[in-house]
Amino acid sequence: MGHLISSTSMLQAAREQGFAVTAFNVHTLEMLQAVVDAAQELQAPLILQTTVGTVKHLGPEYIVAAAQVAAKQASIPIALHLDHCTDYDLLVACIRAGYTSVMIDASMHPYDENVARTKEVVKVAKAAGVNIEAELGKVGGVEDDIVVEDEDAKLAVPQECVSFVEATGVPTLAPAIGTAHGIYKGEPNIAFGRLEEIARLVSVPLVLHGGSGIPEEQVKRCVKLGMAKMNVATELRIAFSNAIKAVFDANPEENDPRKYMVPAKQAVKALAMDKIRMAGCDGKAHLV
Ligand SMILES: [Zn+2]
Repeated sequence: MGHLISSTSMLQAAREQGFAVTAFNVHTLEMLQAVVDAAQELQAPLILQTTVGTVKHLGPEYIVAAAQVAAKQASIPIALHLDHCTDYDLLVACIRAGYTSVMIDASMHPYDENVARTKEVVKVAKAAGVNIEAELGKVGGVEDDIVVEDEDAKLAVPQECVSFVEATGVPTLAPAIGTAHGIYKGEPNIAFGRLEEIARLVSVPLVLHGGSGIPEEQVKRCVKLGMAKMNVATELRIAFSNAIKAVFDANPEENDPRKYMVPAKQAVKALAMDKIRMAGCDGKAHLV
């Protein structure tokens, strides 16, 4: 295809056409290759994502270089997104390194401060042709160092979504609707009515956080109501790690990463393909 693209137009097309682009959090080269293989095979547009923790683990330049190779070799549109960043300097460093989409997460601050911090990022990111995502309300669970207890998680307020998008000019919005990061203890308690109201009032693409373990029919309902991006993180790294554990359980002497990484890659690819289909993203590469 060529080079990494901003996810703005990709997500606008998804919202208009009623599907969601799957965004996968990757932590190693093998995970990145596995989700690219999955998207390529299904001809799905793709968002590669890393959290701040992964940026600190690998360094933004290595991540960008690997993502750029994927974009060059694959025949699908690919964006590279920084997930849940609270640190302005790190966010700017990622844009400089070549990320094509960033999330400023100031949702832990009062509304006015969330607006002010998001506005600042919108200014610099838009100038660089980079997509911006911001969060309203609070998604529960654990994402790197951000821990939100169940009782502190709160739904996005529809009128605030309207004023937030107007005040900040943010092109993509993650409204908290009851999903959580990590693995759900029971079924997620998604506020579909709230989502419907937000989607009716706000035309920018909406982002579904906490995509690990949401039952298929609930994912489809969210997508139908306007969720244009679905984030999947925890489930992927569990599949990756479990496959490696199974190799060592069967053969504790194994010491060749070229062997024990193979089933791990296969597990991530299979799971990513499931999620792509669930989000209705398969076969949509040519539409974005
Ligand atoms: Zn998230």
